[in-house]
Amino acid sequence: MDMIDRYGRRIRYLRLSVTDRCNLRCRYCMPAEGVRKRHQREILSYEELYRVAAEAVDLGIDKIRLTGGEPLVRKGIVEFSEKLARLPGLKELVLTTNGLLLAEMAAPLRRAGIKRLNISLDSLKPGTFASITRGGELQRVLDGIEAAMAAGFPPPKINMVVMAGINDDELLDFARLTLDRAFTVRFIEYMPNLQEPDWEKQSIPGSELLDRIVREYRLLPIVSSETAGPARNYRIAGAAGALGFITPISGHFCGSCNRIRVSSVGMAHGCLFAGASLDLKPALRSGDRGELRRVLHDIVTDKPVGHTLQQDEDDRRAFAMSGIGG
Ligand code: SAM
Ligand code: SF4
Repeated sequence: MDMIDRYGRRIRYLRLSVTDRCNLRCRYCMPAEGVRKRHQREILSYEELYRVAAEAVDLGIDKIRLTGGEPLVRKGIVEFSEKLARLPGLKELVLTTNGLLLAEMAAPLRRAGIKRLNISLDSLKPGTFASITRGGELQRVLDGIEAAMAAGFPPPKINMVVMAGINDDELLDFARLTLDRAFTVRFIEYMPNLQEPDWEKQSIPGSELLDRIVREYRLLPIVSSETAGPARNYRIAGAAGALGFITPISGHFCGSCNRIRVSSVGMAHGCLFAGASLDLKPALRSGDRGELRRVLHDIVTDKPVGHTLQQDEDDRRAFAMSGIGG
């Protein structure tokens, strides 16, 4: 079965947030004080998350990304991944992590059936990394990346949120990570989810990031089918890895968006920024399978054509990205 929204987009990708808790407090994602601690009853149990996933797969989803908060801080994530990976019809189970716990968990996650990892890393300087993440230890993430490779994962995608005056001086250092190793480094435009008053000064358009790299290296475009996702991809001539540019602000990719999101408290979102969200909890808790399918279907049908972050204040309501999963 295929889920097609009213604009003809085939929806096949679910980002499933398993927790809103995190062992970091990245300045672009969460307020310094963290997020309100939810009562355990508010958070979907693994059994409920599994039912959401199973229904979504039955409706046509074939790729699920586990995210958070930090998915690896939720106890039982390896066992949950293992169960999910066996879901008939699910082609790809992947996970996004800040990498802090990967040194210990990469091998069990690989055995559980996670196919690929995206790892968030915004600085290669210990001091800047600690400042952006409000206390994170860079070396643990670097060890985590090595552990992932040793466990047999394909070279991860490394996601860098670029912020003017904070880490944009490291653009070329990140690009150089791809010279000898087959990482894909993806530069992400900083999004105003916390409604910082000066966000536009911090967000650098992808085209400018590209220009800065092109001044130093010859870039060859990679056709989009080679690496799926919203990024525009390039390779530095002769490099082992690739570079991607994700431009939700300056050149949003809503026209080809194929994803829906479900948060750890059971809210389904058709778009990170625009449109209504629907609560899956009543259907989950009453055990009404038909209603669960209907709500999932509605979130696809009502998926907005796109967001208008650049022009529209309403699309800029504040939220912690950790609550939805990025
Ligand atoms: N904790 C995991 C991690 O950091 O990879 C998964 C959850 S995190 C919310 C998912 C992604 O959202 C990360 O790559 C993060 O960099 C990105 N993100 C969070 N806030 C953002 C913002 N304001 N602008 C751009 N990307 C953001
Ligand atoms: Fe945590 Fe990821 Fe948000 Fe950083 S980006 S605070 S690691 S959820």
